[in-house]
Amino acid sequence: MSGLARDLTALLDSGKVLTDPEDCHAYACDAVYYFARRAPEAVVLPETPQEISGILRYASDQKIPVTPRGAGTGLSAGCTPVQGGIVLDMKRMNRVLEINRGNMTARVESGAVLGPFQQQVEAMGLFYPPDPQSQEVSTIGGNVSTRAGGPRGVKYGTTAHYVLGLEVVLPDGEMIRTGGTCVKQSVGYDLTHLMTGAEGTLGVITKVNLRLLPLPPAHRTAVIVCETLDQAAMLVSEIIAEGTIPARLEYVTSGAVQLMNATLTPPLSTDGEAYLFTELDGSPAQVEEDTQRLRSVCDRLEAMELRIIGDEREAETYWRARRNLAPTLLRLFKKMIVEDVTVPRDRIPDFVRALQSISASLGLIIGIGGHAGDGNIHPSIMFPEINDDLEAKAKEAVRRIVRTGLEMGGTISGEHGIGLHKAEFLVWELGEAQIALLKRIKKAFDPRGIMNPGKIWQEGGEA
Ligand SMILES: Cc1cc2nc3c(=O)[nH]c(=O)nc-3n(C[C@H](O)[C@H](O)[C@H](O)COP(=O)(O)OP(=O)(O)OC[C@H]3O[C@@H](n4cnc5c(N)ncnc54)[C@H](O)[C@@H]3O)c2cc1C
Repeated sequence: MSGLARDLTALLDSGKVLTDPEDCHAYACDAVYYFARRAPEAVVLPETPQEISGILRYASDQKIPVTPRGAGTGLSAGCTPVQGGIVLDMKRMNRVLEINRGNMTARVESGAVLGPFQQQVEAMGLFYPPDPQSQEVSTIGGNVSTRAGGPRGVKYGTTAHYVLGLEVVLPDGEMIRTGGTCVKQSVGYDLTHLMTGAEGTLGVITKVNLRLLPLPPAHRTAVIVCETLDQAAMLVSEIIAEGTIPARLEYVTSGAVQLMNATLTPPLSTDGEAYLFTELDGSPAQVEEDTQRLRSVCDRLEAMELRIIGDEREAETYWRARRNLAPTLLRLFKKMIVEDVTVPRDRIPDFVRALQSISASLGLIIGIGGHAGDGNIHPSIMFPEINDDLEAKAKEAVRRIVRTGLEMGGTISGEHGIGLHKAEFLVWELGEAQIALLKRIKKAFDPRGIMNPGKIWQEGGEA
């Protein structure tokens, strides 16, 4: 038994420590990235914050890197260790501790899986809107740590808008509680929202207090087939400007619709250049009024087709097809890099055209879709095979995509976070002075540099 394995099993039951290289190897990747730089030497599966505190105190003393991991569905190599060390797998801390209807709040352990939590909340007539499309597996701790968004971002915002308070274990093992369960608080620096989106670089989130909303009683899904991209973009702007903020407003291309048609009855026409999948929600009267407004905008702008799906169960087939797009593509290709640049809504057509030109000039297959309502576009670079030539072209494509998004007034990540994948571009968006400030904050939390080193900015972190 290695020294590390011996030390960890002195801190935790042996059933909570994995050191077999094959087990550890499985923790060297997230949903799409495999960074074989250094698999962890050990994986721990704690069940209490106290156990995490003991591990972090030990890791801090020994200066051993620790990488927190939720479900490993991240798309920017946030949870893949760069310097080996210990991976802290949070999946056993998965309880929903409280759903408080009176206060409209919930308290969960950070390893709780989003989808089942949302179902529990909805069974009580309440609503937790953030909906990253990985919701059947991703954890709330992972969502908080990446400020995850999803289709409902356009109306309801992202995970960050629902976090009221956290329990966190700091790198030296100290436990703190930030925020609380009130909808407002003005007490000192806002550490809750500093930890939210910190990608496991400042501490380990063990519990999360979340804000809930009343469950909207009525929903209606519609698909708009658009002749051109510009028409789709104009529709997005006009639908919102006319006073309807859809609960979801997704953009997909005809290529994606061809894949989705396998599960849609009747299939959608593939003659359009762009498709908008939208959901209206609210009171029945509100949904009716919004539907009429949607019809009139579609008529005025001469959309090719407006398909209103009356039945909620049928509507779910459309949303399931949309959710399953990425896994379907992953089955067809060997590898995929999903980009996450967000641009101002009115720049979506220019951005999509730039993506098409990047794809053509580099000879790459780039699938284009995303959350049109909030400008968050997900170009997906598909690998029919894995070789050095394609890897080099994909790297160049990512650089061009990120640069183009920034030039259009956008941001390099709308919801996936920086991780390792985007670290080299951070300086383009934030500049040196801001990065220096981030590093000083990191140092204040983590002077020994053990928490997820090598992430967010380059230089291998502080460890
Ligand atoms: C098919 C598919 C669809 C997706 N769709 C979306 C989408 O619509 N919107 C979106 O935003 N994302 C999406 N994602 C990306 C991903 O699901 C999200 O980033 C999600 O929030 C990650 O959660 P996770 O539990 O898997 O975290 P992980 O991937 O395990 O970790 C993500 C980051 O959080 C840190 N972390 C995890 N838990 C903790 C903790 N308890 N304390 C401190 N740090 C922690 C990790 O160190 C890492 O940096 C999608 C991914 C897939 C595979």
